[in-house]
Amino acid sequence: MSASASDCLFCRIVAGEIPATIVHSNELTVSFRDIHPQAPTHVLVVPRAHHPNAAALAAADPDLLVEVMRAGAAVAEREGVAASGYRLLFNTGRDAGQTVFHAHLHVLGGEPLGGLAQ
Ligand code: C5P
Repeated sequence: MSASASDCLFCRIVAGEIPATIVHSNELTVSFRDIHPQAPTHVLVVPRAHHPNAAALAAADPDLLVEVMRAGAAVAEREGVAASGYRLLFNTGRDAGQTVFHAHLHVLGGEPLGGLAQ
């Protein structure tokens, strides 16, 4: 883990160097709308600290992983999808389709989401 990585897209969003539509933030996490939404609500929750994926985050700082999950639930409440249901998803590694190697929780909802795969 490092506090930030200069070549990391999501570290740069956290630092305000790249624009994003931020819907929630606190001391430990930043939540912003996915630029290619896969559902009516599609928000990414990222820890401010750089960890390459959710498994690395869990190993290095499990309390921070809990904070990411709590922020995801808060986003779902704010977006009005908590009552109807939503999906919390971490793509972890290449075969899962992870494209940005800074841990991020997808919060998806606002319509029936179907089966497990996106
Ligand atoms: O889990 P995965 O790594 O595939 O997710 C990365 C997500 O980051 C994608 O859904 C992509 O649309 C989103 N993204 C974004 N803003 C960027 C670059 C990527 O919301 N500037």
